Amino acid sequence: MAKYSIFSIARNAFSHHRNWPRQWRSPDPKPDYDVIIVGGGGHGLATAYYLVKEHGITNVAVLEKGWLGGGNTARNTTIVRSNYLWDESAALYEKSLQLWEGLSQDINYNVMLSQRGVLNLAHSLGDVREGRRRVNANRLNGVDAEWLDEEQVKDFCPIINISRSARYPVLGATLQRRGGVARHDSVAWGYARAADARGVDIIQNCEVTGIRRDGDTVTGVETSRGFIGARKVALVTAGHSSVVAAMAGLRLPIDSHPLQALVSEPIKPVIDCVVMSGAVHVYVSQSDKGELVMGAGIDSFNSYGQRGSFHVIEHQLGACLELFPIFSRVRMMRSWGGIVDTCPDASPIISKTPVKGLYINGGWGTGGFKATPGSGWCFAHTVARDEPHALNAPFSLDRFTSGALIDEHGAAGVAH
Ligand SMILES: Cc1cc2nc3c(=O)[nH]c(=O)nc-3n(C[C@H](O)[C@H](O)[C@H](O)COP(=O)(O)OP(=O)(O)OC[C@H]3O[C@@H](n4cnc5c(N)ncnc54)[C@H](O)[C@@H]3O)c2cc1C
Repeated sequence: MAKYSIFSIARNAFSHHRNWPRQWRSPDPKPDYDVIIVGGGGHGLATAYYLVKEHGITNVAVLEKGWLGGGNTARNTTIVRSNYLWDESAALYEKSLQLWEGLSQDINYNVMLSQRGVLNLAHSLGDVREGRRRVNANRLNGVDAEWLDEEQVKDFCPIINISRSARYPVLGATLQRRGGVARHDSVAWGYARAADARGVDIIQNCEVTGIRRDGDTVTGVETSRGFIGARKVALVTAGHSSVVAAMAGLRLPIDSHPLQALVSEPIKPVIDCVVMSGAVHVYVSQSDKGELVMGAGIDSFNSYGQRGSFHVIEHQLGACLELFPIFSRVRMMRSWGGIVDTCPDASPIISKTPVKGLYINGGWGTGGFKATPGSGWCFAHTVARDEPHALNAPFSLDRFTSGALIDEHGAAGVAH
């Protein structure tokens, strides 16, 4: 793999940047693999990378029905943080944040992690109590967290309106300074390039249409390019988790909803942190191009259509303008939707399944982008060793029968 560096940029400048090698190969599928990963989003590609890097398993294919990162990986608002309430989630998301912090060097690809600080606003006494509790819980778990009163919020983000007469007055906020944003496409492309360089076959335009079993053991997958055999199959299909799991006869405790986001026209730098409000359902940051990147709440109906309803973004923008009156004349440029797969406790599934050799990673709902490295790392361990790592053991499927749920609705940022 050609190393990306200032020297390679300078070298390629001589040929007007026309001779950069392709970032990954485009091989035909082999008849069988040790591991097939279904889904070429960030989580699937990270899983492939850590399977090779951490466990030495190289006979791996990633099958993607469209193009790499064409799912939620490239549809999200790119917020990265680890300030979840419960010990199990804090450990998983903090592992992920630590991997993010060294990721660009590890995969030799600039994922543009910008740790500019994430504020989670409180608008009611209930929010304040919940926020303070979460700050304390985070600190006990070694996650950086601070509580800011309304004046400190204003100091940190001067364009916020902290008037008490606002419909949703700002009463304070939690702050995670190590939180921020990263470039979503880069994460998929970086992991793809690094996995391909270590021998993983990345096969795009290859839809999995069935999962073949011999009794209770998986033997491979039916695809739009024919049958491909595998000793192990790992499902990482985000919004389509239930659809793909059903191919193996599994029924998941997952609801699928549209979640929308939008961006404004590019403007001069005006907000240098991330602001989230679970109460008004708006989260805002500014991209390097200058666009305001905003997320909304989920549409409450179930759907696989990658678009949402207008009233959701209308309400979101109404509330947003009370928080940020300065945005009142900014024009919105485009909006889009993705499908989020949501578990009843707003926590993910990284698990073995009742089918031998079949594993599932999904249910990340509205917040899986931040978990991409940690999710791939834990899932690779689970697939390679046929047992969960201590970090993801609490996120197994059996919690829905044992009742050991991990309720993260409060920290999820978006209510569902
Ligand atoms: C609008 C929006 C905003 C969000 N904002 C944030 C945020 O700010 N921070 C955060 O942490 N998270 C956020 N999320 C959630 C986050 O995007 C997801 O949890 C995460 O990207 C999931 O990654 P993934 O790799 O599992 O999924 P995906 O990128 O969706 O990858 C799954 C892949 O599986 C493929 N696939 C599906 N079915 C098949 C099949 N049958 N055969 C082959 N391939 C198949 C799909 O084409 C897709 O490419 C947001 C989501 C949305 C929609």
